[in-house]
Amino acid sequence: MRLAIEPQVSLIDYDDDPLAKVATAARLCYSSKGAEELKDEMTAEEQQKLVRKILKLGHYSTLEHAYFTFHVVCSRVTSHQLVRQRVGVSYSQRSQRYVKEEGFTYVIPPSIKNAGKEVLAKFKEHYESSQELYNELIAADIPAEDARFVLPAIKTNLLVTYNARSLYHFFSLRCCNRAQWEIRKLAQDMLKEVKNIAPLLFEKAGAACEVEGECPEGELSCGRLADSKSGEANENG
Ligand SMILES: Cc1cc2nc3c(=O)[nH]c(=O)nc-3n(C[C@H](O)[C@H](O)[C@H](O)COP(=O)(O)OP(=O)(O)OC[C@H]3O[C@@H](n4cnc5c(N)ncnc54)[C@H](O)[C@@H]3O)c2cc1C
Repeated sequence: MRLAIEPQVSLIDYDDDPLAKVATAARLCYSSKGAEELKDEMTAEEQQKLVRKILKLGHYSTLEHAYFTFHVVCSRVTSHQLVRQRVGVSYSQRSQRYVKEEGFTYVIPPSIKNAGKEVLAKFKEHYESSQELYNELIAADIPAEDARFVLPAIKTNLLVTYNARSLYHFFSLRCCNRAQWEIRKLAQDMLKEVKNIAPLLFEKAGAACEVEGECPEGELSCGRLADSKSGEANENG
């Protein structure tokens, strides 16, 4: 019996001091001095003050200098959504042409986990029989690039590098309640990780409704923003 897995992210690499880097980029725009000198002469308080100002004014290009690299383990359903973001992100995904999937694992969505024993058993059977057929095709010398056509949405591994600006965009789209649960979980976990490293830099990051006060989902809105606004109205009498 194959093991089901949970989607996971780990922050494996990032700038030593992302806040200092962003602050240096901002200061350089308005100074005759070089980057090294500016970085050394700014105090931590000055850097923080400058980054607050950048976030307030929307001088977001300076955020593009800070990078964050994650190892992501998720279903191929979700990796497909993840890689739709084109700007300011780099991806490397494990190949199904060069790496055989002879013992794959997979993610079980909570709705299926909670749908009762029968549904869950059928779901698992589907993955088990896909594995058997895949292994038969490989044993019959079908190339992995073709045998993979029988695979469902099995687990995949990616290395993803964002800059801080593209992370802001990712969080605004994917921390949203309307985003699919697995990519939302990855986005929320990533947000936690980067907030740990650089809380001020990501102070204004999150779902669009939380940070911009506007819901981009229109009629499909989850209603969170409207609820919070009506709550505020009630509090204000
Ligand atoms: C809740 C939700 C539901 C979705 N449902 C669907 C769906 O049903 N079908 C589907 O196909 N996709 C769907 N998507 C994916 C979505 O359409 C985007 O492809 C994905 O979110 C990446 O966003 P992006 O293009 O803004 O990001 P990026 O590709 O990183 O682009 C960032 C920004 O750069 C600018 N930009 C990038 N490329 C161009 C360009 N070629 N021309 C002009 N400006 C550009 C835009 O301002 C864009 O917002 C969904 C996304 C979400 C969050």
